Amino acid sequence: MEGKFLCPFPWMQISTEPEGSVRACCYGDSGKTLGLDVNSTFKISDAQLLEKKINHPELVKLRKSMLSGEIPNFCNGCKRREDVGENSPRRIFLDHYEKEFEILLGKTNLNSGELAVDDISLLELTLGNTCNLKCRSCSPYFSSTLEKEFEQLGIDFSKENVQEIQAFWKQGKLIDSLILLSREVRELKFLGGEPLVTPIHNQLLSILIEKNLSSNMSLTYNTNLTLISDDILSKWSKFKSIKLDISIDGVGELNEYLRFPMKWEKFEKNLEKIFNEKDDLNIEVSFNTVFQAYNIPFIIDLLEYLKPLSKKCPIVPYFIYLDYPYYLKGDVLKVSVLEEIKQRLSLYYSNNEEFYKNTLYGEKNLSNFSLLFSLLDLSILENRTENYFDFIMFTKKLDKLRKQNYFRFLK
Ligand code: SF4
Repeated sequence: MEGKFLCPFPWMQISTEPEGSVRACCYGDSGKTLGLDVNSTFKISDAQLLEKKINHPELVKLRKSMLSGEIPNFCNGCKRREDVGENSPRRIFLDHYEKEFEILLGKTNLNSGELAVDDISLLELTLGNTCNLKCRSCSPYFSSTLEKEFEQLGIDFSKENVQEIQAFWKQGKLIDSLILLSREVRELKFLGGEPLVTPIHNQLLSILIEKNLSSNMSLTYNTNLTLISDDILSKWSKFKSIKLDISIDGVGELNEYLRFPMKWEKFEKNLEKIFNEKDDLNIEVSFNTVFQAYNIPFIIDLLEYLKPLSKKCPIVPYFIYLDYPYYLKGDVLKVSVLEEIKQRLSLYYSNNEEFYKNTLYGEKNLSNFSLLFSLLDLSILENRTENYFDFIMFTKKLDKLRKQNYFRFLK
């Protein structure tokens, strides 16, 4: 298998696009086609998928293509990151699921891509676009509350696609398919929108508890952490473990600005709640930050804010490279500005390297630091300062609509 572009996800996981199409994971370029055949879209409720699960013909094709030494178009995102020396999700998860993947490879027909088991281990559900926030870097495909603003600002999006997303997750019978797929999984991952505000999420958890399927199952969430109720904590207590990937794009008012209309005070209270329950409910916490033109100048503030949590969780966030919208990407900033930020960050890093190295999650913190530097380098290398004007125009228009002012952060 040496030298082949293999990834554990097509062997273990079924993931969904917001409108229910199945893909291998959420990091791919074009989930709807799995990168193989433009006609291969199939949904999480597809009868053949429910029957054959990980041996659905399209998933078999994806594995076969990897085994034959190809890199599926779907995986271009990982390839691009690896080409610039970055740690791709593929590499991270190869490490994470090393043993399990080795066993599954041993059960794979290397010519056909068929697996000797039908069960999936991971189910990743993007539960539509229902969300309580309107993050600047998001779109109506992932946040229902952004639809109106996009219309007001005249930003193009497909209303039909948004309606398709919303209709899909409202189907009454969908829950039966989800239960059927969840029965055997050991990890259930929720993406959104905001999963904690989605009715089908609550319904699914309640049924899994009722059917005694929860105690051996781990739950993972991408969450904005604005909605931590006693009810959800009580439900989580019935599961084996909980992992929260918490979205944070800045500190205090900057986070309120970028993840409007969240309230920082509420976020901090919920974070405290989570850390109070951490041991009892077996909760693991990490942070995700969207690397974007708005927050690049303030990354050191964020790193400093997270420092006191070093005994509880990794304190350098996992930085997510923004592909869309193009005008909020880090590469719209001038090279000289990015170089200056990189210099400041390098100085910060050399002054704090020992501290980060000796933290409880030292290796993870250092690896996320290296990702951050790669993203800065990528923004310098693939610079698109010609889009800076669009960044400013978008910012001014949205600021006016929301009665905000980004430029006060820069003073
Ligand atoms: S290689 Fe990357 S994009 Fe492809 S399935 Fe793995 S994690 Fe997803």
